[in-house]
Amino acid sequence: MSGDSAAPDGTGVAPDGAGGGDAVRPRPGQLTFVAPRRRKPPTHLADLDPAGRTAAAEALGQKGFRARQVAVHYFEHLTVTPEEMTDLPKAGRADLVAALLPTLLTPVRTLTADGGATVKTLWRLHDGALVESVLMRYPRRITVCISSQAGCGMNCPFCATGQAGLTRNLSTAEIVEQVAYAARTLRAGGLADIERTDAGLGLAEMEDSGGGPDSGGGPDSGGGADLGGETGEADAAYGGTRVTNVVFMGMGEALANYAAAIGAIRRLTDPSPEGFGMSARGLTMSTVGLVPAIDRLAAEGIPVTLALSLHAPDDDLRDTLVPINTRWRVDEALDAARRYFEATGRRVSIEYALIRDINDQSWRADLLGEKLAARGRGWVHVNPIPLNPTPGSRWTASRAGVAQQFVERVRAHGIPTTVRDTRGREIDGACGQLAAAT
Ligand code: SF4
Repeated sequence: MSGDSAAPDGTGVAPDGAGGGDAVRPRPGQLTFVAPRRRKPPTHLADLDPAGRTAAAEALGQKGFRARQVAVHYFEHLTVTPEEMTDLPKAGRADLVAALLPTLLTPVRTLTADGGATVKTLWRLHDGALVESVLMRYPRRITVCISSQAGCGMNCPFCATGQAGLTRNLSTAEIVEQVAYAARTLRAGGLADIERTDAGLGLAEMEDSGGGPDSGGGPDSGGGADLGGETGEADAAYGGTRVTNVVFMGMGEALANYAAAIGAIRRLTDPSPEGFGMSARGLTMSTVGLVPAIDRLAAEGIPVTLALSLHAPDDDLRDTLVPINTRWRVDEALDAARRYFEATGRRVSIEYALIRDINDQSWRADLLGEKLAARGRGWVHVNPIPLNPTPGSRWTASRAGVAQQFVERVRAHGIPTTVRDTRGREIDGACGQLAAAT
């Protein structure tokens, strides 16, 4: 059933009894805003603000300040095992930790690519729902791409996740735990180093996240993050053990799960022990263009990078490629993106999956360039991405020469444009592929 009548900010409530089973494959063009109702995941420390954590500890018969001690272990030391929390009294320690740090994600399968510098993990949630995250080491940063929903209700026809439908929204802590797990993996040496060669500074350095050179990907980004050790220098990611960048580009439309997504952003950026203390500059929120939610995000006062998945500059095509366009048109989405830039000062990324003979024509490059330039200079960056082919799909990537020509035509309008890396393609870890092989 379509959730078209519900608020697209994830606040709608599914009808009683809905969503007990797996997601239903949507009809072409059908949008689903309301996540099926399923049993809630256990409440985790990362779901709670400091007052809520104190109350949770007291409800267990512990002193309230014990919650803060657990939070220091979780956010600062990346520790989740009671044996290592020796500042907590032995009596009741295991119970306190079990209550505040319940297991939310269980790894089902881990795949590596790029010589071990890319690691994709498939997770089972408490109710059997499956999501994935991908950890990637780059020359100057370490990025984790996380899921915000199990499945997705936005139904983009070229996307494996969208074709499977929406299973459910993730909780704040389920989102945060993907980052925490990545940080623990890094600390344990679970992500290989990359070759420090000229080749290694080529395509891979361009983009992984929808960020332009200044938008979440540069050496100055993520400077406040300290998820496990090193801080500082541009090259810290060489052998580094901290996550510098988080991109909401895994499964799901994060702005359709707004409350949990903004909760996760706060947990990632709040200083320890409220959160991980990452720089908002290292975070990228991706959206297909839920206009009211973009405006709401702009008003939060947390200047994360916004990545708008446009994929077509004209409504005719975008209605098919990105069905949310039937709700908010290209110009409305671009206007919202421009407002986001004005409110936050953060340059917006425009994501554009280059699909052979579908959206890669020269006139569409010109139209895209014109529409962006008409809204000013210096506010936007375009990331064309050769489409990641999905098994059985009729959509495929543009030819290299066509892609290059597209880039040059957009640039000719004065719009910075860089082809994004398709890191993780061989393990289906690139955008739009996260449900392809599960
Ligand atoms: S491309 Fe993104 S928004 Fe569209 S269906 Fe896939 S996961 Fe959802």
